[in-house]
Amino acid sequence: MNTIQFQPVGMVAGNRLVINTEYLGGLLNIGECEYLDVVYYFHESENKTFPLSGITRSGAERGVFASRSPNRPNLIGITTVKLLEIKANELVVEGLDAKNGSPLLDIKCCDTSLFAQSADKNPVHQSIIRSEPRIEIKNHILRKETELLLTKAGQLHGHYCPGLAMGIMAAAFAMSEMRADSDGMEDLLAITETNNCFADGVQFVTGCSFGNNGLIYKDLGKTAFTLTKRDGKGIRVCSRPESQEVLHRSFPAFRECYGKVVTQQNHDPELVAEFKKLGLERAFGTLTIPFGELFDVQHVTTDIPSYASIRESVVCATCKESVMINRTVTEGTAHYCYRCAGTTYPILTGDGISVQ
Ligand SMILES: [Zn+2]
Ligand SMILES: [Zn+2]
Repeated sequence: MNTIQFQPVGMVAGNRLVINTEYLGGLLNIGECEYLDVVYYFHESENKTFPLSGITRSGAERGVFASRSPNRPNLIGITTVKLLEIKANELVVEGLDAKNGSPLLDIKCCDTSLFAQSADKNPVHQSIIRSEPRIEIKNHILRKETELLLTKAGQLHGHYCPGLAMGIMAAAFAMSEMRADSDGMEDLLAITETNNCFADGVQFVTGCSFGNNGLIYKDLGKTAFTLTKRDGKGIRVCSRPESQEVLHRSFPAFRECYGKVVTQQNHDPELVAEFKKLGLERAFGTLTIPFGELFDVQHVTTDIPSYASIRESVVCATCKESVMINRTVTEGTAHYCYRCAGTTYPILTGDGISVQ
């Protein structure tokens, strides 16, 4: 077979693509491309006789075409980057994973239509999500994309606020420290000490929720949570006493507006619109406050409950509804649900757990 030769069109220098001057004409109107596909040469992989399979970083054995290894028959790398700035023959980009000095083979305007087409219409995307529902959240944690986590957590929480942002920060920190992920099977547990906005950030990022028994609630009234594995070893992240003051200091305009709209009940539409805008800025701005100014971290060992038990259900003799047997009162052979039996039971409200 014939040998194919390539001519480098430029070189990678840090986060810049430096284009050889003879190819400058190829940059015409490149500013219209928001993202670029960059094709480059793995110049540091010098030994050109590679085994066709090997052990990947995750320990699995894979053929070269089933991996992204830089050791390949043709030493070609591909990466998608965001175009930030054009300076003469240099393109400043973000997201470049090519090593410094890599020869550039080609640059293409990235076809973002696949991404832009909302993910729920892209069959590949859908199929990936169905096999790993938390893959997007997992990747955001890995890449420390807390803004994206906060944006998505808003779908659960309903609004954006510093409490939610702090939950995102605390949970993303603990998840990456512990290299944890959850498949919702109770192997990872989050113990929250509050049921305010913070707890929704924790649930969204950790994947530990009330519904999958991964979330434990301790009614302690602290903006804190512990992430722990089944061995009881975990990390507790607790908001610092100064954190509220740090937030106030960081967003003085919001505080002033809050005084007018909430404290003085001035509901002038322009003022309310400003209040909402500042509130949004404050929620996302919270993410930019250094972690250590908001939180303390401890490594802790916690007693954790056993896996949730599967309980038999019975039918209440009065209301005829199905009810877990350990939530009934038994008289003779008849079972009654707590409501029909008039028994007190605990409920969780904004005020915490109480017995009704
Ligand atoms: Zn909130
Ligand atoms: Zn009943």
